[in-house]
Amino acid sequence: MYAVANYKMNGDKEFFLSQVQELNKIDTKDTKIVLCPPFIYLPFFKVNERISLGAQDVANAMKGRSTGQVSATMLKEFDAEYVIIGHSERRSNGETNTQIVDKVKCALELGLIPIICVGELNKNSGNDEIFEQVDAVLKNIDHSSKIIFAYEPVWAIGSGDIPTTEEVKNVIDNIKSRAKEMNFDIEVLYGGSVDEKNFTTFSKAGADGFLLGGITLKTERFIELIKGMDNE
Ligand code: PEP
Repeated sequence: MYAVANYKMNGDKEFFLSQVQELNKIDTKDTKIVLCPPFIYLPFFKVNERISLGAQDVANAMKGRSTGQVSATMLKEFDAEYVIIGHSERRSNGETNTQIVDKVKCALELGLIPIICVGELNKNSGNDEIFEQVDAVLKNIDHSSKIIFAYEPVWAIGSGDIPTTEEVKNVIDNIKSRAKEMNFDIEVLYGGSVDEKNFTTFSKAGADGFLLGGITLKTERFIELIKGMDNE
């Protein structure tokens, strides 16, 4: 199971140093912890067998005239293994499926594992939007690529309003069978208001782990969640 921490634009040097110290004290068997701080804090993290590093975005080109962007090569230089791509907070700023596919290609070229966020905007908007986002990626990369999808209903992010186990299972099963039809072997995470109390709702739905936002800023509760996942 993956516990992927998306700190978004939160935290400071003191927070990250102290959280990493606490995370290093816990022993996990099956939980892979992936920490995705803002770019500038990547050098503060030391990876080990249990804790990997990821970024919250990557440029859609390898180098050049892209003021303010960070390339896959640069992320690799600072030990990132994963990169979140297409988070709804970026899609809502105009990021398109085409740009997302280019970012996924850049990440894959450098051996980074993309965690691609997909999800419907509104509670009752149906699943078409999700599968359009999934297909855009699957149709444009090689089937042997190692990729992870994160199903994140946008309405559930940071809201405390969560879907049912059945709803999440339905989407995860559909993403997996779509991928299987195209010969991909993928994993699917769930993200959106996951905490130490409700995570089993989503593990029961077949999620291979979680993309976590708010809970990662509360170190004790984040650790409780990781321990809970590990004991499942
Ligand atoms: C997210 O933004 O990816 C996320 C899952 O946030 P939260 O856990 O706060 O809903």
